[in-house]
Order: sequence, then C-alpha cells, then structure tokens
Amino acid sequence: MDLFERIKILSAKNSLPHAVVFEGERAKEFSEFFAKVAVCEGENKPCGVCKHCLKAQKGVHPDIINLEPEGASKLYKVGFVRNIKSDSFVLPNEANAKVYIFNDAENISAVSQNALLKVLEEPPKSVIFIINCKEKTNLLDTVISRATVFICDEKETESISEEILNIIRTASKQSEYELLSLLQGYSSEKGELLRVFDELIISLRLLYRLKVNGKDFEEDTELLETLTLNRILNAIDILIDAKKDIMQNKAVKIIVARTCIKLKKTLGR
Ligand SMILES: [Zn+2]
Repeated sequence: MDLFERIKILSAKNSLPHAVVFEGERAKEFSEFFAKVAVCEGENKPCGVCKHCLKAQKGVHPDIINLEPEGASKLYKVGFVRNIKSDSFVLPNEANAKVYIFNDAENISAVSQNALLKVLEEPPKSVIFIINCKEKTNLLDTVISRATVFICDEKETESISEEILNIIRTASKQSEYELLSLLQGYSSEKGELLRVFDELIISLRLLYRLKVNGKDFEEDTELLETLTLNRILNAIDILIDAKKDIMQNKAVKIIVARTCIKLKKTLGR
C-alpha cells in the first residue's frame, strides 16, 4: 500500500494524526496531499471538487499554512515558532481543520523544537502540525515520540548523468588530488554543491540497487565490479554528513576537502 492510500485510510477512520513528520525526498508532495485530505469536506477525501480541495490545489487555502525557514542557514527562529504556536489557537478560517506545514525543517533548532513540544502534545482542536524534512536526524526524540513519522519514497533514478559518473569514476580510479579539483569546481556556490551531492547520493543508491539485484551497470561494468555494497553505503553516509555540514554553514572548502579524503578512502582501491 502506498503512502497516499495510508493517508486516505487514516482519514476515513477519522484518525488523521495531529503531529506528523514526513521524512524523505518526497516529503512536500505527501504533506500537500495530507493537508488537502485534512481540509476536504467531500465524501472520498480528497474529493478534488469541493471548495476546499480547489483552494488547496491552487495553493491558496487559508487554513493550509506553508512555512519556510529563514535565511541561508534555513533556520526556524524560536520567535517565529512561538508566533505559530499562538496562531494555532485561533480557529480555522474556512475549513474544519487548520494545517501548519514546516517545510525544509531539517535544520530546525532544538530551542525551536522545544517551543513546539507542548502544542504538539496537546494541539488545539482540529490543528495539525506537519514537519517536512529530508532526514529527521536533527529532530529531538521528544518531538519524534509525539509525532507520526512517515518515510516518503526516495526519488529514484534509472540512469546516472555523465557529470556524476565522472565524479564517481574519479573517486574510484584517480588520485585524491584529482577528485578535489573536480569537486572544488562546485564549491563556490552552496546550492550547486548541494545539488551535486544530492545527485551523487541518488546515483550511488542506483548502483547499490543494481548490485543487490545482481545486475550490471552497463555504462561502466568495471566500475560496479570494483565497488562493494559496504563501500557504496559508506560513501552515501559520507555525502549525507557533508550535506548536513553545508546546511549548518560550516566552511565549504574544508567540507569539500574532508569529503574528498573520505570518499577516496571508501571508493578508491
Ligand atoms: Zn474535497
């Protein structure tokens, strides 16, 4: 059963949770669906035709409040979170429910999370809090334990671009210096570096799936042969850590250098 079905069933049983964490690449997509189900007043939610569904589809429903973190560090400041908390005690405008969606919340600070705790535990009637994140590693246990966590399917790929393949090949076959010069080319812009790391992770996951299923990677059979499952998993972990460091605004050049050393050690022979 996919996650869409699970959300529909919870709604049909009238038991949509009031604190939800969506973790994964598709968190936003599922949170939008969840919010639509929550405000819909049709029969088979989301009915797609009631006024609530129509407004939700257009992104203009007043009771679906999409929140974004502030600044380059992508933080939810504690004052902001406290305002949301007080706002949640105001009755919904039009629907029978009010949904707050914290998008990109992987960097939400412990202080801000603590400010939310009480209201997560006993939310005002018909209020739903959704926390979207790629990885829930920075969320406090006390938050996780009060929420229903849904793991969203990862974005999958069936092919690897020449750009990314070149990086993996370099990590596997060339020297650390060559890998470093290649990755340094991306380090002047954080967004670009994050994109490359994301694509590397997705591509390594493809290699992992191919290997687990005993399949060939036709573009480069030899490359897949030299990699073990463990090495691929380690490389993914290294990249996830590097992404976290970048989002926490640590010095990008140092992160890139450190990541190169680790990747070379893991993927090189
Ligand atoms: Zn509807």
